[in-house]
Amino acid sequence: MTNAYREDFPILLQDDTIYFDNAATSQRPRQVTEAMRYFDENCNANPMRGLYRWSIEATERYEQARADAAELIGAADSREIVFTRNTTESINLAAYSWALHNLKEGDEIVVSVMEHHSNLLPWQMAARQTGAKLVFLEPEPDGTLTEQEITSKITEKTRLVAIGHVSNVMGVTNPVKLIAQTAHKAGALVLVDGAQSTPHMQVNVQELGADFYAFSGHKMLGPMGIGVLYARKELLEEMPPFLSGGEMIEYVSRESATYAEIPHKFEAGTVNASGAAGLSAAIRYLKNVGYDTIREREECLTARLMEGLRGLPYITIYGSEDPKKHCGIVTFNIEGCHPHDVASVLDTENVAIRAGHHCAQPLMKFLGVGSTARASLYFYNTEEEVDRFVEKIGKVRGWLGY
Ligand code: PLP
Repeated sequence: MTNAYREDFPILLQDDTIYFDNAATSQRPRQVTEAMRYFDENCNANPMRGLYRWSIEATERYEQARADAAELIGAADSREIVFTRNTTESINLAAYSWALHNLKEGDEIVVSVMEHHSNLLPWQMAARQTGAKLVFLEPEPDGTLTEQEITSKITEKTRLVAIGHVSNVMGVTNPVKLIAQTAHKAGALVLVDGAQSTPHMQVNVQELGADFYAFSGHKMLGPMGIGVLYARKELLEEMPPFLSGGEMIEYVSRESATYAEIPHKFEAGTVNASGAAGLSAAIRYLKNVGYDTIREREECLTARLMEGLRGLPYITIYGSEDPKKHCGIVTFNIEGCHPHDVASVLDTENVAIRAGHHCAQPLMKFLGVGSTARASLYFYNTEEEVDRFVEKIGKVRGWLGY
């Protein structure tokens, strides 16, 4: 399988580094850095504030990014897109602005054991402050959430289900549509952590039934420092601001203020407009590649990687046996080797993988390990890289003296 995309990623052309840490952050194609450079060199001015040409163009590019993000995830209205710094901030916005004002003692927030800490700690905070209780969906050993588990844990006490679309450790895609249907029947709302899904699959928030959807630009070819919180218009209109100050107001007196319309009510201070321009370019790039191609390439690479690792008897792979259920993420351990040692020794061979608890410590406990190694692929990776990676993994025990 040829890979024409690679030419667009200068960092990948530098040397023979194998970059398999795409679930942590993806690489940026030239088109994204050029869009940001265009912004910096042609219209860098504070958007929404100036009445002159540069500021007007900055505003237009910023709002175009909002429209692009809305279209990407199938939002009904671009005002349902709030720009944040990242998924973590998006989820915190929902927790501070919605949960603290809508939950009370006796209410339940349902999360899964697989959540990234970013989709757990904000709910722990909301539960502590409101007296609500956290309820955990327990996965099967391969990461599957069964219908039985979902329908038994989501009850009339549930007010919110906060669920990862794709696990950053197991790579499993959760049945978000079923979860949303069950939650809505029980009168609860659904927040979906889309950090690991928007880079890999076509998302439609309306079809999924997501009331809130959070994602980060930097995991989907965009720059760091720009993220999105999608929320249904009616919710955003009712929610109080998360942060306050400049830009998010309509009128301010000495003692009080009225707030701007959505989404500006949630975007206090100077925004990351050049980051938004980069996100726009990333969305365009993803659309050009196409999610079908992305899936096809990732499935092929993942199958090759899993087959190679399975050939080494001392390796445990976590999650499903089926490469199609990994979203490019292969988490594993090498018997006798600490994952940190594995990642460090691989670094000396120009291989970048992630090792540790992956910000998912409750899941590590569930898996019965303290940490794991994780190789995460993207469409620009190659079969040749996978083969070289497997060959090096076969040597790790020797290098570490086991
Ligand atoms: N949720 C999931 C599933 C993730 O994988 C990550 C990052 O790895 C996050 C949330 C947090 O993303 P960010 O650091 O961009 O806020």
